[in-house]
Amino acid sequence: MPVPPLSTFRESTVPRHIVCLTFDFDTQSGFIARGMTTPTPLSRGEFGLIGAQRILGLLKTFGLRATWFVPGFTIESHPRACEAVVQAGHEVAHHSWAHIPPAQQSRDEEEADLVRANEAIARLTGRKARGYRSPSWDLSESTIDLLLAHGFLYDSSLMGADYWPYRARRGDRVELGQPFGRGEETALIEMPISWSLDDFPHFEFVRTATTVLPGLQSARAVMENWLDEFRYMQQTVDWGVLTYTMHPYVIGRGYRMLALEGLVQKLIAAGAVFMTMEDAAQEARERMFTA
Ligand SMILES: [Zn+2]
Repeated sequence: MPVPPLSTFRESTVPRHIVCLTFDFDTQSGFIARGMTTPTPLSRGEFGLIGAQRILGLLKTFGLRATWFVPGFTIESHPRACEAVVQAGHEVAHHSWAHIPPAQQSRDEEEADLVRANEAIARLTGRKARGYRSPSWDLSESTIDLLLAHGFLYDSSLMGADYWPYRARRGDRVELGQPFGRGEETALIEMPISWSLDDFPHFEFVRTATTVLPGLQSARAVMENWLDEFRYMQQTVDWGVLTYTMHPYVIGRGYRMLALEGLVQKLIAAGAVFMTMEDAAQEARERMFTA
């Protein structure tokens, strides 16, 4: 089972509540992938360069290491901004090259994009990525296989749990009118995420021909929700990982940065253990799957 019973944790572990701060450094890539290539949407992504500087400053102030999921597009378009992330000691993880959701690609297209982005990461950091997060959180049926074949430790794109990493599966059987068929559990560690813990839907105003995403919520109200997630994790499990997902062009606005700073201060006061996602996934593997 992906989620062991609570009693397993309460009986066997010393309390330890891990927080992963993760930043998807998309810059313009997400807008280009959606065909939004006029000057204003592009500039909206460009603001991520300013946001990234502010986030690096915040993380330095508190002495925290974070995980940056950086598309190959951003590495090759904005190399100095990406070098600053590496020089500050943060993890650089995989977020595709062109920010096209894998569910929209053939297996060959997906693998070519995966390899191209990994080569960009290796040039930037000196080694290939250990972790992957899919653009727009929509894996294909091939993604787990490809991540295993290319030596990844973890994925962070699925929503099947909140505080417990679990083994990613392949080959789930789904047919309308039939019971769900669980596929095979793999060695890939899933570091689960949620739209509710992502800054984008809360804050970004997006208008297309067919939809409006209103966004623009109170940053402090969202951070209160995010802090309550941590408090609930503390109340219900003795060991867990909570992942927050942010984008420099979203969270980098002034009032949101102040709210994020407040959240970090409260998490520190509450005893959060901040880790890169690679380190948290490694700890999860050792604690949960090989004992
Ligand atoms: Zn992204």
